[in-house]
Amino acid sequence: MTFLFTPPAVVSVPVAGTAGRFPVRRVYCVGRNYVDHIQEMREGNERDDPFFFQKPTDAVAGDGALVPYPTRTADFQFEGELVVAIGAEGVNVTTEQSMELVFGYAAGIDLTRRDRQRDCRERQISWEAGKSFDASAPCGPITPRTQTGDLAGAELRLAVNGEVHQRTPLALMIWNVAEIIAHLSTDYRLRPGDLIYTGTPAGVGALVPGDVVRAEVDGLAPLSVTITENGNSHDDH
Ligand code: MN
Repeated sequence: MTFLFTPPAVVSVPVAGTAGRFPVRRVYCVGRNYVDHIQEMREGNERDDPFFFQKPTDAVAGDGALVPYPTRTADFQFEGELVVAIGAEGVNVTTEQSMELVFGYAAGIDLTRRDRQRDCRERQISWEAGKSFDASAPCGPITPRTQTGDLAGAELRLAVNGEVHQRTPLALMIWNVAEIIAHLSTDYRLRPGDLIYTGTPAGVGALVPGDVVRAEVDGLAPLSVTITENGNSHDDH
């Protein structure tokens, strides 16, 4: 067989402390998972079941990446999140079984065209334009769960140009990691290489070119990306 053109490279994320890389299969995100963010967005109910959306695999950007300001938005926002890296297959797993699927954890950022997301919501159409665009899923190096433990006491922080905008104990997640995996595995067969962005706390805000965005979770390698001018603005139509 001959490919008509060179197939895209496999997207991968470094594993902290090793030369190995984690090849990414799919990117799942939890829609809302902290009460204070639900309140600031004025949507939903904390007792609702978790819901999920996906980003393209090649939206993953690594630590140190330059992220172009996306097209067709005037409200490009950060969401600092814990990312779960799946290392084993499972479907319909229980919360008791679900941690066996976890390979490790990373600090991540769910970049969002907030104005487009709100427009999608008002028109009752898919969030895709607000969430699933190029470079919208920065992910830091993955630290294996064997080194981190369960992160129960860890804090998540997100800073822009050194100023902290988001800070929360991971313990305040509405749905914890085991519950997220159990829920997600009722809709999809999870496989090695899947990443799950677990939702963001309050404090989200807008970015402009030149901003340096840093996400940190205690016990994990930090993630830092820089927002650049949109090099494709002449294609913006
Ligand atoms: Mn998010």
